[in-house]
Amino acid sequence: MTTTQASAPTITVNAPFDGHAIDEVATTDKAGVGTAIGRAGQMLRSVHAGEFPAWKRAEVLDLAARTLRDRVEEFARTIALEAAKPIRTARVEAQRAVSTLTYSAVEARTLAGHMVPMEGSEAGAGKLAFTLRSPIGVIGAISPFNFPLNLVAHKVGPAIAAGAPVVLKPASSTPLSALALAALLNECGLPDGFLTVTAGAGSTVGDALVHHDDIAMITFTGSPDVGWAIRAAAPRKKVGLELGNNAPVIIEPDGDWQRAAKLIKTAGFSHAGQSCISTQRILVHESIAAQFTAALEAEVKTLVVGDPLDEHTDVSALISTAERDRVCEWVSEAVHGGATLVTGGQIDGTMLQPTILTGVADDMKVSYLEVFGPVVGISTYRDFDTAIDRANDTRYGLQASVFTARLDRAMHAVHHLDFGGVLVNEVPTYRADQMPYGGRRDSGNTREGPAYAVREMTQERLAVIQL
Ligand code: NAP
Repeated sequence: MTTTQASAPTITVNAPFDGHAIDEVATTDKAGVGTAIGRAGQMLRSVHAGEFPAWKRAEVLDLAARTLRDRVEEFARTIALEAAKPIRTARVEAQRAVSTLTYSAVEARTLAGHMVPMEGSEAGAGKLAFTLRSPIGVIGAISPFNFPLNLVAHKVGPAIAAGAPVVLKPASSTPLSALALAALLNECGLPDGFLTVTAGAGSTVGDALVHHDDIAMITFTGSPDVGWAIRAAAPRKKVGLELGNNAPVIIEPDGDWQRAAKLIKTAGFSHAGQSCISTQRILVHESIAAQFTAALEAEVKTLVVGDPLDEHTDVSALISTAERDRVCEWVSEAVHGGATLVTGGQIDGTMLQPTILTGVADDMKVSYLEVFGPVVGISTYRDFDTAIDRANDTRYGLQASVFTARLDRAMHAVHHLDFGGVLVNEVPTYRADQMPYGGRRDSGNTREGPAYAVREMTQERLAVIQL
């Protein structure tokens, strides 16, 4: 399951909250990556030979989903420790991974090609044509730190459904959840070599995957700069990118802004804002801005900041003190530029207090870049179309949302918010694992969700039969 080499150096995995060492993980070098890809290639041949058919892959996925459901607590604890994700939020992630594996099993059972309507043209007369879906080849998967279990499941589950073996490189700061999931899949019948977790730095292990000739597809989730550089470095591979965002929400005067405030308490601060769809830019109509800000401030002040293993904790540490300091600097820069600090902004050990800024301008880093920290910025607008234009004025395009009671406004937003997903009367942070999920512009070029990822991970072969 893991490539371990006797002489290989190890990564010490530290808890971001208090820095204590949780575990040591053996790393892989370029040769180890090559070995893992070679074993994956053998597995691919055995899939083509019918030795690991779709129904068996579905059984492995179903059993893995049930086993994971029984072990949610253990996985949640691992996530909480290595990623400083508060334990209640970590349980949600583990439950979501159950859902991701369950939907992947459905895809394994039902994925099919399609009939081509040959009779539709004179040229097609007398012929029957259809497509078959077969695995794209060996997949190199590279995952980020912030959902160390469910985003791995989003790559591995559909790949198993597709029959495409995987070599996975998890984030160096959070490899334990990925290793535990791989072990669980092996226990549930996934043959050795179908999934290998290769721990190590992105610049070595990740790079080796990206450049290996026998990898057909890279599926990458992480930051835009790394993602697009991988795409440029691998022009002959399929490269699926799930990248960053600075999610906007527009709150209309007729919208349920009290509910919006309640939801943003979680959507802007869950896992200390380290979600690609964390609510970041709040565009609120000027007529309700004061009431909405007061309601959000009251909600955010109830957030409990502390140890991720404490049941009461809502917000814990950022992944590193360097990240904490970067986010804090961006807040200071906004305040120096004229924004008002409503609450938060102070460093507390490894944590940053949940922060609300008002009067943020579109040219501040907290607006035009991805904060990836426990910070939301409020600005006001007068005219709905201006709010939509400002929401769209971003290099990112993952998810956006609007709160309104008017159907015409809701539909206008659905048509004109230029994002991969538009949500109405919900925060842009909402995701269920069966959704087609992915972005536009710098946010990426693909869709995840098992039903969509499995199509990315398979290719169609056309069959034409002369009758
Ligand atoms: P990151 O720094 O880009 O790292 C992501 C992965 O890429 C890690 O495994 C990293 O390895 C690896 N990597 C780094 N440099 C590499 C290289 N040169 N070649 C190959 N691999 C390389 O991102 P992160 O900080 O872990 O995650 C945060 C970002 O992910 C945010 O931008 C967030 O919005 C985005 N994200 C997007 C989604 C989505 O679905 N759209 C979901 C979650 C997160 P090391 O850990 O060893 O550096």
